Amino acid sequence: MVGNVQIGGDAPVVVQSMTNTDTVDVIRTAAQIVELANAGSELVRITVNNEAAAKAVPEIKQQLAKMGCDVPIVGDFHFNGHKLLTKHPECAQALDKYRINPGNVGRGKRRDEQFATMIEFAIQYGKPVRIGVNWGSLDQELLARLLDKNAQTEQPKSLHQINCEAVVTSALESAQKAEELGLGKDKIILSCKMSGVQDLIAVYRDLAQRCDYALHLGLTEAGIGSKGIVASTAALAVLLNEGIGNTIRISLTPEPNGKRTQEVIVGQEILQSLGLRAFTPMVIACPGCGRTSSTFFQSLAEQTQEYLRQQMPIWKTDHPGVESMNVAVMGCVVNGPGESKLANIGISMPGTGERPVAPVYEDGAKTVTLKGDNIAAEFQQLIDQYVQKRYGKS
Ligand code: SF4
Repeated sequence: MVGNVQIGGDAPVVVQSMTNTDTVDVIRTAAQIVELANAGSELVRITVNNEAAAKAVPEIKQQLAKMGCDVPIVGDFHFNGHKLLTKHPECAQALDKYRINPGNVGRGKRRDEQFATMIEFAIQYGKPVRIGVNWGSLDQELLARLLDKNAQTEQPKSLHQINCEAVVTSALESAQKAEELGLGKDKIILSCKMSGVQDLIAVYRDLAQRCDYALHLGLTEAGIGSKGIVASTAALAVLLNEGIGNTIRISLTPEPNGKRTQEVIVGQEILQSLGLRAFTPMVIACPGCGRTSSTFFQSLAEQTQEYLRQQMPIWKTDHPGVESMNVAVMGCVVNGPGESKLANIGISMPGTGERPVAPVYEDGAKTVTLKGDNIAAEFQQLIDQYVQKRYGKS
């Protein structure tokens, strides 16, 4: 458990996100956490990079409580986590989970001591720990050890192969140390983040074969826009489909003025598209083509998806099961009626040269034909009525 969220075993795959505000700015950080939680993030990570940030953590939790938000908060530590937890026990207590990067804990003998300090705090306060290895900050001493060993073999592996092996070894050896220090196996989550899709798949397959800890998946430095979304989806879909992964995060670089919540929505959509979880009713829309008579159909598809997302905070408590609903918004008569019949509710807009009418289907049967200037609002009303009928009232 992390806070009130079950992780691992048969629990559903959990969607995480991370803030990009300065943790010291309590109000802005709490506001972004609430925004991410409202978008569906089930855990939110914040950086705890200095003393001021460590002091801010309990204040952020208080602010969240005032805002009615109880999403678990994960503290991200690098280089000085041992000092911050020691000097700020109220931070150690307030966080719901610690993320420790074994590549950034220290060097030599101090590394082990500093790692042990952090694990001891986790044990003292009953907190789970993610041992989060990152390809970009790999433990250099471990890498050197594996390279030396490799050089003595008859058929040495490539540097790239050893790098991948070092990532997995770093996670497994750190987890073993944590257990030896007394941290329960059920309190350990491992991640090995890579920036290449094939590398991520290979490393996690290896990791999943060699241990049974809960695993957090994510392509690190995924990138901006469609590149980040496609690369993350390509990597995570393969692993999730093989049953690998208990939590996920999509590390998108936000577009200028873009919303931080996009990473949450992409994570949810990956899980929903794979049929692993359902979060929000999905709009099935065709791409449109030369038969599409205007951009009205595109706007209707977009507005409908937005509307469904906006309704979910109310619907999910009042209308359980609605998250699995499919809504079709189609551009013409070629595939429109067929796809609409297969959806829970669907509309088929008129294509070029077709009669200016839009038949609506519910559960496979045509119910009404809309026409005129008010189609979007009328269709929304029909969706509302369908939800009330099909998924009950509170
Ligand atoms: S349903 Fe009609 S408008 Fe949409 S892609 Fe197919 S042919 Fe084109």
